[in-house]
Amino acid sequence: MTQIIDSIELDFCDVLFKPKRTTLNSRREADVIREYKFKYYPQVMNSCGIIASNMATTGTFEINNILQKYQAITCLHKHYDFNSKDNYQYLAKNYKNKESHKNSYTFISTGLKDEKKHVFDLLSDKNFKIDKLCIDIANGYIPKLTDFVKEVRSKFPNLLIMVGNVVTGDMTQDLILSGADIVKVGIGPGSVCTTRKLTGVGRPQLSAILECADAAHGVGGLVCADGGCTCAGDVAKAFGAGADFVMIGGMFAGTDEAAGELIEKTIQTNELIEENANIGSLKHKKEKYKQFYGMSSQLAQEKHFGGMACYRASEGKVVDVAYKGSVESVIQEILGGIRSTMSYIGARRLKDIPKCTTFYRVNRQLNEVFGKS
Ligand code: 5GP
Repeated sequence: MTQIIDSIELDFCDVLFKPKRTTLNSRREADVIREYKFKYYPQVMNSCGIIASNMATTGTFEINNILQKYQAITCLHKHYDFNSKDNYQYLAKNYKNKESHKNSYTFISTGLKDEKKHVFDLLSDKNFKIDKLCIDIANGYIPKLTDFVKEVRSKFPNLLIMVGNVVTGDMTQDLILSGADIVKVGIGPGSVCTTRKLTGVGRPQLSAILECADAAHGVGGLVCADGGCTCAGDVAKAFGAGADFVMIGGMFAGTDEAAGELIEKTIQTNELIEENANIGSLKHKKEKYKQFYGMSSQLAQEKHFGGMACYRASEGKVVDVAYKGSVESVIQEILGGIRSTMSYIGARRLKDIPKCTTFYRVNRQLNEVFGKS
């Protein structure tokens, strides 16, 4: 019989952090670099826990080059052809870092399709040792995924494996016990995702993170909150709910380092052109944008998969994101915001954020007296 879960399910916009008495005098005292230990992967990793999504627009070498300076991670998208010399050399260079005892902040990605073979070849490559893999499919509940995680884990016992996506504790634990170090949480919250509209499936992201983090930590695994962050405060809330990592797409879109051409649009303003004020002509201005698209959108299917399979429908959309300059300013703003959150709630280390978190459930999150900004 149909069941209804009657408890309230929350999104980032439904809560705010309660400020607490703190021993920190300044946000500078907040340490955003955490030492990560994993269930299977034998090495320790020091990172701020932010991950650029493996979307074709944001999982790029260029974003990786900048983010790694901040000990932030990039999941490279799965459409790079590593048979090409330049791409291959990029990987080799990144994974050579490991020998000098520095972590590589780069994951390669795969789904469950033909790219698997290419990824196995790369993981077995003797010239360098890739040690981080993201296995990413929209519906993390299918048995083929669990089987694949088991297969990869048995072939590569020391690999750092991140798998997703799910939104419930039971499946989080299944994937960890099958061999995942990190489970990716989020169905439907993404900025260019239309899954909820098309299928009616999904779960508000804050509640999903709360449940999955608790389940993962109980069996020695970690979670990555994937999707739905629109500002630094949302990233902090994801950590507050227990996420160990936070994956971001839309916030890194529109930057110099995101893939895609700059588009210039002429926009009509509300200002009058002075010399023609009496006839009411309005000024125009030029604005720059970059295209950003969901990986299940029709555009992505056409660009990267040679068209849309007839049994599928598009579960993603295409948007033009206002040009933001370098991704460096975005990561700096996120880390600055998190440091500030930490100083408000009394968390000295990134890992302490959930312990120091009390959320108020709110009806209205933002003060928008002067519009949205
Ligand atoms: P954002 O940070 O933009 O809110 O969310 C990024 C996440 O959205 C990605 O990491 C991925 O999990 C999800 N995503 C990307 N493209 C699509 C899509 O076309 N459809 C759906 N359902 N989710 C997508």
